[in-house]
Amino acid sequence: MAGFKVFSATVMHESLSFCRLPADLERFKTTGGYERDDEIPKAYRGTKSEWGAIFDLADRFGWSVVHPLVANTSPSGPVTRDAYEHFSEVILLSLKKAMPVDGLLLPLHGAMVAEHLEDAEGELLRRIREVIGRKVPVAVTLDLHANIGPDLAKHADIVSTYRTTPHVDMYETAIRAGELLQRAMKGEIRPHVAYAQRPMFNGLDQGRTISGKGPMVDILAKAKAILAKDKDILDIGINAGFDWADKKHVGPTVLVTGNQGTTKAQKVADELIDFAWETRATKTIELRPIDEVIRIAKEPRSGNGPLLIGDYTDCPGGAGMGDGTALLKAMIEADLQDVAVGSIADAESAEKARKAGVGATVTLDLGGKHDPRFGGTPLRVTGKVIAVGDGVITRKGPFATGTVTSFGPSAVVQVGGIKIIVASHRVQIDDREQFRHFGIEPETTNILACKAMNHFRADFEKIGRRLVYVDSGGITSFNWKQYPYKNIRRPIWPLDPL
Ligand SMILES: [Zn+2]
Repeated sequence: MAGFKVFSATVMHESLSFCRLPADLERFKTTGGYERDDEIPKAYRGTKSEWGAIFDLADRFGWSVVHPLVANTSPSGPVTRDAYEHFSEVILLSLKKAMPVDGLLLPLHGAMVAEHLEDAEGELLRRIREVIGRKVPVAVTLDLHANIGPDLAKHADIVSTYRTTPHVDMYETAIRAGELLQRAMKGEIRPHVAYAQRPMFNGLDQGRTISGKGPMVDILAKAKAILAKDKDILDIGINAGFDWADKKHVGPTVLVTGNQGTTKAQKVADELIDFAWETRATKTIELRPIDEVIRIAKEPRSGNGPLLIGDYTDCPGGAGMGDGTALLKAMIEADLQDVAVGSIADAESAEKARKAGVGATVTLDLGGKHDPRFGGTPLRVTGKVIAVGDGVITRKGPFATGTVTSFGPSAVVQVGGIKIIVASHRVQIDDREQFRHFGIEPETTNILACKAMNHFRADFEKIGRRLVYVDSGGITSFNWKQYPYKNIRRPIWPLDPL
């Protein structure tokens, strides 16, 4: 018997409502990925991503996969109407042409907001259901920072969510979803998704698992025990949410995939979300003010490896501008030595430094251009160009191994004892290759100041002597009261008394 025909497509975006850089088609095409049809296996086969898993599943189960689109870009402001409707049209036209299909496997993020739709994934699934009807099984994978509304739970039959932050299990997540989809297509199971949420938009330690402690670790252990014991519970998705989205259903959710004919899935979802509610205030990281981090950086070097500074609130991986200069300014003023900064996103300065060439001295008004309200204004620096590169890096570390990340055409400018990667694109630091590309050895550098939240810990924490996080005034602060939320459900923790 021939294998099943499976339809797969991706639109992935983590949208920060208060970020003024829109996710337009140009941003998807230049930073991130926009692949169509035959480009997709070339880009993803063999990688530790959801799409690497889809091609392995196809080999294993004999699926023929229809794959019209993978669109993904760094977090930023909401997806524009034009971009969203373009993606929707590509997917729906291809799906209509491919019908009949036996099942769908859709790697999504889950925290997308479009200019004209706050529940962007829920609406996409609703449109897909209009084409395929109720009976064809739909499996969805999610980033654990997903902000999920009831529509997605209604239109999906299977949901599998990452279980790690940093996210080093993208591949395994899609394998789980694909194995359940195979069983559903064969008629062995008839899955449905139960959904639970509480009045909170922050919680579960923002999904952190790397330290091996905290509420996310504990809730995953509870989920694992339930899965081991109950055959009717097929998967449990614990979504910590993404706090900076101004949408009704922002915040933690639990999505339980249960077998039809039982009411257990809803019970499990409620029980687990209650645990998220009770532990909502517990966090495993601390954001320190800049002066405190500078004081730590000036302490005599003790232990091996670099001091790791995570510039948490200006991380493009969480929709930060990636060009904030407040931390850099303080480091220059403190005359810190043997420092590498990855990176400052400033295409104009990168171009100027590249044109001047290696060995030249340049004066730049660096960074602070995307939105000077967050993380510092342009900083005038004079330094020497010590390296240039095309900025295209294949990841070798545990995070999204084998996939490509790109600074775009870039240069390294040294100001005093500080080597600054001046990049064309906004990119988070998540792999040591991003420094090695420019001849900087991360293991032997005294201080690495990274535009980074959680993901860089997968490849860097093991080489660092200490990790500290700074609040440099960027857009993803824990000071939530500063954001003009309008669409979230109220009352809600931690904004309102409950
Ligand atoms: Zn995430």
